[in-house]
Amino acid sequence: MVLVGLMCVGSMFLWGSFAKVPAFCKYLCPSGTLFGALPLLGANESLQSQVGGLFSWKLGIFLVILLLTLKVYRPFCQYLCPLGAIYGWLNRFSLVRIHWDEGRCTSCMTCERACPVALSRQEISRSQECIRCGRCVDACPEKCLHFGGERTDPLKS
Ligand code: SF4
Ligand code: SF4
Repeated sequence: MVLVGLMCVGSMFLWGSFAKVPAFCKYLCPSGTLFGALPLLGANESLQSQVGGLFSWKLGIFLVILLLTLKVYRPFCQYLCPLGAIYGWLNRFSLVRIHWDEGRCTSCMTCERACPVALSRQEISRSQECIRCGRCVDACPEKCLHFGGERTDPLKS
């Protein structure tokens, strides 16, 4: 998170006042490499001789992220994307929240196994990493996780 924050600030600084270029897009984001540079180089051999250090750097970032996907779920979103950091910070103002009824929890860990961003049950209701996918809510056999408002107890209805 600290790394992402530093990159955001650094990128905005470079973009806004120093280099006058979209620094994050130019130096870090591998999207252009994947969807632009690689297809272009594959289709036009004459361009391959013009490949420089920046392309190698971006290709390196792309390959590292590709390798990380073998072990980490959505590594680009988690470690590099500044939008994720901004959205995560805005999570604290979200109207959509997940409540955890700790008293009913049997610590079966089903919710943690279902969570795509590997949040613990203690973090579910307050983590900025939560993407509100609802998998934990669906997975909980005790129905002690629920979206927003007060939980209606199915046993009492
Ligand atoms: S809503 Fe999705 S991301 Fe958030 S804690 Fe539940 S399973 Fe994890
Ligand atoms: S799935 Fe439900 S009962 Fe199991 S640990 Fe998570 S919150 Fe607790």
